[in-house]
Amino acid sequence: MILSDHYIADEPYYRPVGDEITLFEAAYAMRLPVMLKGPTGCGKTRFIEHMAWKLNKPIVTVACHEDMTASDLVGRFLLDANGTIWHDGPLCLAVRHGAICYLDEIVEARQDTTVVIHPLTDERRILPLEKKGELVRAHAGFHLVISYNPGYQSILKDLKESTKQRFCAIEFGYPEAEVEAEIVAHEAGIGPDAAALLVTIGERSRNLRGHGLAEGASTRMLIHAGQLLKHGIQLEAACRIALILPITDDTDLRGALCAAVAACV
Ligand code: ADP
Repeated sequence: MILSDHYIADEPYYRPVGDEITLFEAAYAMRLPVMLKGPTGCGKTRFIEHMAWKLNKPIVTVACHEDMTASDLVGRFLLDANGTIWHDGPLCLAVRHGAICYLDEIVEARQDTTVVIHPLTDERRILPLEKKGELVRAHAGFHLVISYNPGYQSILKDLKESTKQRFCAIEFGYPEAEVEAEIVAHEAGIGPDAAALLVTIGERSRNLRGHGLAEGASTRMLIHAGQLLKHGIQLEAACRIALILPITDDTDLRGALCAAVAACV
């Protein structure tokens, strides 16, 4: 079966933070396009993988980038020994075969690329393949999901208003401390006390947001620090390489973050 390797066999661990599962299931039932909105490393990708597993659907993920063209999404003619043959792109595969198509960090793609999704997001549910002269009607199971990090937004790099308005948005943020500690403990395989300590450090780094830090340490980074702890690295060193050095080159900020870690030890 086409897309058979796009099913997720084992349940991906996902700790619900609010009513996001119920909301997503309702949006999926109505095939309303969904935007997962929130900072990097806060669980958006894990959530959609969990939902694809829960709904028993294949998922096609595309990491969007600024050199991506509409053909990269939709498909193109490629030359082979028998002449030119059409190859469906990832979006087209999902549309034809009824998968979830997850466009990760859609804002990275150029605006003229993102407009190809427009006719898929209203009642038409079609994907025009202009180069091939074909109009693909979406399979009943097709569902479009995008992720969007409002923090990176600038006038030059933002979704068109006409694109945004086609989606329902589910908001993701860093969960409250107890829940985040549970996630860090599970993912890094460390005890609850060590996980709680890392979360406190993470929260302190997030308080520096806007004071020179674009974003504080994400849940993903706390998990990295936890994995280093698990491997026997001391807390200060683990935090330095997993939480501090990756996010700032500023000596004062590094000093402030190291002090925040030292205060927690
Ligand atoms: P995003 O897609 O938002 O950038 P990810 O989904 O990749 O972030 O999250 C980073 C990591 O954080 C995941 O691999 C997972 O280990 C962990 N994580 C974050 N939130 C959750 C959650 N609610 N339940 C389970 N794991 C989570």
